[in-house]
Amino acid sequence: MGRFDERVAIVTGAARGIGLAVATRFAEEGAAVAVLDLDESAAQEAASTLPGKAVGVGCDVASVAGAEAAVERVVGELGGVHFLVNNAGITRDNLLFKMSEEDWDLVMGVHLKGAFAMTKAAQAHFVKQRYGKVVNLSSVSALGNRGQANYSAAKMGIQGFTRTLGIELGPFGVNANAIAPGFIATDMTDATAARVGMSVEDFRAAAADRNPVKRVGFPEDIAAVAAFLCSDESSYVTGQTLYVDGGATLV
Ligand code: NAP
Repeated sequence: MGRFDERVAIVTGAARGIGLAVATRFAEEGAAVAVLDLDESAAQEAASTLPGKAVGVGCDVASVAGAEAAVERVVGELGGVHFLVNNAGITRDNLLFKMSEEDWDLVMGVHLKGAFAMTKAAQAHFVKQRYGKVVNLSSVSALGNRGQANYSAAKMGIQGFTRTLGIELGPFGVNANAIAPGFIATDMTDATAARVGMSVEDFRAAAADRNPVKRVGFPEDIAAVAAFLCSDESSYVTGQTLYVDGGATLV
């Protein structure tokens, strides 16, 4: 018996990185999992690695119609939906004076419009069944980070969105919370290392040195918190953002 038996989870951007770790953790705990990602074959390949029932669905979360269609497809194929993890994300870093309108719009589109589109589609089912969990991925960058005006604004926007979901959906048995990770070792942070001209090892060592626990985070660290936020253990927690950063924002 797993604590997520009979539950169906949608995890966006789950072909790799944090999303794949969340999908894996939820599947290990008994959930049927829908892996959503831009590329359907990558999503299906990731889904095939999960224990238990899983499907891979190609979906651009920044498209309202695409998000609606993906949620309906998951409900049809897996028999319902109970958890939504809005994890899909991109970075287009640059200093403000060099940031293009396109890079601003792309980041807002995936993080903010994507979370809006997916949550709007899923909440219709959550409200009807008087049960659901939403977990949104924010970031420590929400507090401000040089070169990330777009990403930082989107990630703080996610926190306001999450608080509002808590207010609007709480009366219908739906909890909504956000996780704000610090440095997590994934392709996203490896790409940042390349962009700033550092080796992955040196970049991770520098990140580890910046927090009190003196290590970088791993996708499994975020998956464990997402599992808590979708469990009955956290049913009195809503609208919150939990910083999972090894204490980086304390110092
Ligand atoms: P990642 O390794 O880059 O994975 C992100 C996934 O999202 C990729 O599979 C990507 O697909 C997918 N994706 C991008 N745009 C999409 C769209 N429009 N629709 C559907 N899927 C899309 O990133 P990660 O490091 O695991 O990060 C996951 C989340 O955590 C993001 O929201 C990120 O902002 C947040 N976060 C990460 C860190 C960190 O240190 N890694 C820290 C704080 C917050 P493609 O491969 O096709 O692009």
